[in-house]
Amino acid sequence: MLQLEDVHASYGNVHALRGISLRVEKDSVVSLLGANGAGKSTVLKALSGLLRPKSGSIVFGGERIDRSKPEHIVRRGIVMVPEGRQVFPELTVRENLMLGAYSRGDRAQIKQDYEGVLETFPILKVKAKNFAGTLSGGQQQMLAIGRGLMARPKLLLLDEPSLGLAPIIVQEIFSVIRDISKRGTTILLVEQNANMALDVSDYAYVLETGQISGQGNSQQMRENDEVRRAYLGG
Ligand code: ATP
Repeated sequence: MLQLEDVHASYGNVHALRGISLRVEKDSVVSLLGANGAGKSTVLKALSGLLRPKSGSIVFGGERIDRSKPEHIVRRGIVMVPEGRQVFPELTVRENLMLGAYSRGDRAQIKQDYEGVLETFPILKVKAKNFAGTLSGGQQQMLAIGRGLMARPKLLLLDEPSLGLAPIIVQEIFSVIRDISKRGTTILLVEQNANMALDVSDYAYVLETGQISGQGNSQQMRENDEVRRAYLGG
């Protein structure tokens, strides 16, 4: 479904991606692991058109998108849920969710998807008329994911969905990620919490200073000494 081939990207003279090649198969969950500053968020930015790669190719659903604008990429079905939630605090939960569907015209379907998101996140139904700014951190993360779903993604990019959340909420978020995947949305997940990420992933890549330093399915990753030492706490 998605293929990156030798992608390089920079911020000014910071060479953040140094030849990234990776694949995401349809209906899978793939994780990008790695330390702070390794380039994980930059991969997501390149994928969503927010940062244009210097070289290399990104092919999604048979189409090259590495020169495409963010709006085009969203319409093709790649939707990013950015790090740090970034909901609109002065809009209601419902208004935030509806913003996720801004590029769509199919009203009946939008309403149906809205109901679907409220089923996935019952707390958002309770809070539908509340301002997003009044939600807890975990609820805002659910809202951010819900808003992403309102765009009907084929590929959902999740940047650090568990960041700063209490363990019990993290469990809940990951259980939703599993649900979303089962219902047919492909997911590329950036996570610091490697244990949780591997639990839901079919395949994972490790990034180090802008390069892929390891890859494998979850079991292979757990059996890899280096991965265990660096990311799984022993
Ligand atoms: P984190 O978990 O901290 O977000 P990451 O693996 O996602 O880490 P990136 O945010 O992709 O890492 O950053 C990769 C490199 O690019 C780092 O060296 C970082 O300092 C640099 N970088 C990221 N964003 C910018 C920016 N807007 N301007 C300049 N350099 C940047």
